[in-house]
Order: sequence, then structure tokens, then C-alpha cells
Amino acid sequence: MDFKRRYTPEQEEFRNEVRTWLAENVPTDLKRPLESSHLDPETWDKVQVVRRAMGVKGWLHPTYPTQYGGGGLSSDHEVILQEELEKVDMPKVYDNTLDLPALMVWGTEEQKQEILRPRLLGETAGWQLFTESSAGSDLASLQMQAVRDGDDWILTGQKVFVGGDAGYADESTKVPDSNQMGELFTLAVTDPDAPRHRNMGYFMVPGGAEGITVRTQDLLVGQGKRQIFMDGVRIPATRLIGGETQGWQVAQTTLEIEHGGGGDVVPRSRTLEKFLKYAQEKGLHKDSHNQQAMMQAYIDNEVLRLLGMRNFWMYSSGQEMTWHGSQQSAWRRESGIRIGDVIREVAGLKALLDFEDPGAPLAGEMEVHQRESLTAAHPGGTIEVQKVIVARRLGISRTRERAAPTPSTAKSK
Ligand SMILES: Cc1cc2nc3c(=O)[nH]c(=O)nc-3n(C[C@H](O)[C@H](O)[C@H](O)COP(=O)(O)OP(=O)(O)OC[C@H]3O[C@@H](n4cnc5c(N)ncnc54)[C@H](O)[C@@H]3O)c2cc1C
Repeated sequence: MDFKRRYTPEQEEFRNEVRTWLAENVPTDLKRPLESSHLDPETWDKVQVVRRAMGVKGWLHPTYPTQYGGGGLSSDHEVILQEELEKVDMPKVYDNTLDLPALMVWGTEEQKQEILRPRLLGETAGWQLFTESSAGSDLASLQMQAVRDGDDWILTGQKVFVGGDAGYADESTKVPDSNQMGELFTLAVTDPDAPRHRNMGYFMVPGGAEGITVRTQDLLVGQGKRQIFMDGVRIPATRLIGGETQGWQVAQTTLEIEHGGGGDVVPRSRTLEKFLKYAQEKGLHKDSHNQQAMMQAYIDNEVLRLLGMRNFWMYSSGQEMTWHGSQQSAWRRESGIRIGDVIREVAGLKALLDFEDPGAPLAGEMEVHQRESLTAAHPGGTIEVQKVIVARRLGISRTRERAAPTPSTAKSK
């Protein structure tokens, strides 16, 4: 089978346009830092200028409809954009985009104009506030309350492990400002007497709303460090997406994509690629055990790439997906840990030297990978949870479950 992508002359022309535009608009000194948490406010602002300009061109979310701020382009254009962006290696400002498909599928026309449009144009970022201290894997047991008051909802409760790392507004507190927080998409109980899965709403809370407190907890990695407290946060009823007890269903549109249902355009482990080159340069591959381990890591990474491409193709051609997303998600997490083990095994303890140590290989990137490969097993459903989903959808678990339909938001040709 030939897995090579081929492009039409029109698509190659588009690639040239993208390449030229990026060369003219992305400052050459704007390079991705080792950890996203190290994005300083100045860099954050510079990246945001580029993002907004891309948003105006419809290139931030190329397959979404133009009337909502997307590009109205095909998934092939998206692939080209992602490939060229990857080469530029620009830092990423934190923007969790998992609310976008939910807004597209469940939002009213007004909500699409008022909330989705600024998100697609890159004017506001997104933060995902789902997890609570007693509701991670078992998300449906969440406790945050939403009480209706006239034309408003009032939210009270707390969320943990919230991603939203880049760009500290205040270096002493390490807490970002409301501009950087953007839209907080969250779930809260609207009817405490209703049964599980039928008792919550999906809300879009403006980051700057009164009554929000943000704390930062130290974790092994830059991601997921925020704890967010809402104390009587008042938001207009127009910020409820879907029905007032339909939040679980709306959240499935977010979670299906989070569980890998959207696939990956350019999935690869950049650290592994650099590590394999480093190991060859140092002659580490000459040891037969190392050679076997390095090949295994290469194969793990290649399988992940193919699963990601398959899912992207299925999603963008509007096919119904069941276990496919969670299969890729479980593989990504498990293979990430295995690849981390191989790097440590072959490079030795040097793999644990961080960026401050002049002897650190790859300027400390291996050390960051050691931490990230462990923590990446958790966000968006752990390895065990992904396996439970696959088992249910294959019909080999105690409870058989048909996949919630994941309407594709991609514009396929
Ligand atoms: C770096 C990072 C970033 C994150 N970012 C976000 C974010 O932006 N927004 C957000 O809302 N959340 C975020 N999270 C939270 C993440 O989604 C949860 O950590 C995850 O869902 C697991 O929940 P938990 O930590 O409460 O663990 P628990 O649910 O308490 O699980 C503990 C252990 O039990 C296992 N387990 C649980 N249920 C089962 C089962 N049915 N069968 C078998 N084993 C089971 C789990 O696999 C795990 O090993 C982030 C987490 C991390 C670490």
C-alpha cells in the first residue's frame, strides 16, 4: 500500500501561497520553546498577532464555514497548512479548541456568531473546565452547580487540572489575565434531582467574569496546572449550549474529538526523531540491544502516525467512527511511555539532564520528554478509560455501547 500523499497543482499552488505568507509574517526569532509554560508575555503577544492575521485569512480553522470565521476550505488544505506551520515551528499560545465542534453542532445561529466566530478568528482562546477533584474518569459525577436566575445562570464550584499555560500576565502569581483565559467551556449541574447524564448543562463562561479565582498548582509539566474557583459567577442564559439538561450530550461532541476522533494531520514525535539522529551521531545504534530498542520506538511512532492519519481521513470524509479515536488515543499514551523508556535506556542518565545543564543532550528536550510522556497518559481520559471505551464499542465489555455519533464539522470535498 502506498501511504504517500499526493497533491494537485492547485494544492501545490496553495502550499506556495502559505509558505510565502508564513515567511513574510512569522518573525524568524519566534521559535517554539522547550516547554509551553515558558512562553513569556512578549512572545505570547507576538504569536497572537500572527494567529489573528491567520484567522482573518480563514487559516486558523480552515475547514469551518466562512460565515462563522472559518476558511471554508477542504481537509487537503488543512493538511497543507498544518505541514507548513510545523516547518515554521512557531510557539503555540494555549487554546483548547475542543469546544469548537460542540458549538458548531449544538450552538444556535446567535451563539455561532457571538461565541464561535471570535474563537475561529483567533480573537479568544479556549480553556476546558471539565475535571473536578472527585470527577475525572467518572466525569458524570461532577458537582459544580448552575442555578437559573431570571435571564442568567449562576455558577458555583471548582475545577482542577485545567490546561491554560502560556503567557503569564503576572510573573509573581503565574496567573494569566482574562484576555489569555478567553472562553472557559464547562459543565455544571442544572437539575440536582435528575438522573446522571441528564442533570447538567454545557456553559461558555467568559474568562473575565466576576467571581472567578485562578490558582496555579505545580505539576511535572507545564500543562494542566490551573485550579479554577467559581463563586456565584453570573452569565447570561444565552451562554448555555444545547438544552439545560443536555450538557452531557453536548459534551460528547467535545469528548469524541478529545478521545482522538478528529485524527491528526501531522502526528509525529519530534523528540523521538531528534533522539534517533542524536543516537546515530553518537554511535549508540551500533550496540545491538540499542538498535532493537530504537527500531521498536520508531515502529511505535510510525503506527501512531498511521492511526492519526486514518482517523483524520475518516473524520474529514464524514464517516461514522466508533472505537477508532480511543484506539489512537490509547496507543499514543502507551507508546509515548515506551518511547520515553527507550530514550532513557539508550541515552542513559544523560536523558534526565534538564535545559539548565550544559551537558544535557538536545538542550534538555529529552528530560522534558521524560516528564511529558508520563503525564500525557492522563488528560482527556487515561489509558484504562480509552481501553474501556474501545471494549464497549467492540462489544467485548460487560456493557455494550454504540458510539455516540460524531457529526463531522470538517468540510469534505
Ligand atoms: C497534564 C494534565 C492536563 C489536564 N488538562 C485538563 C484540562 O485542560 N481540562 C480538564 O477538564 N481536565 C484536564 N486534565 C484532567 C484529566 O482529564 C484527568 O486527570 C483524567 O480524566 C483522569 O482523572 P483523575 O485524574 O481524576 O483520575 P481518576 O479518574 O481518579 O483515575 C485514577 C486511576 O483510576 C483509573 N480508572 C478510573 N476509572 C477506571 C475504570 N472505569 N476502569 C479502569 N481504570 C479506571 C484511571 O485510569 C487512573 O489510573 C488534565 C490532567 C493532566 C494530568
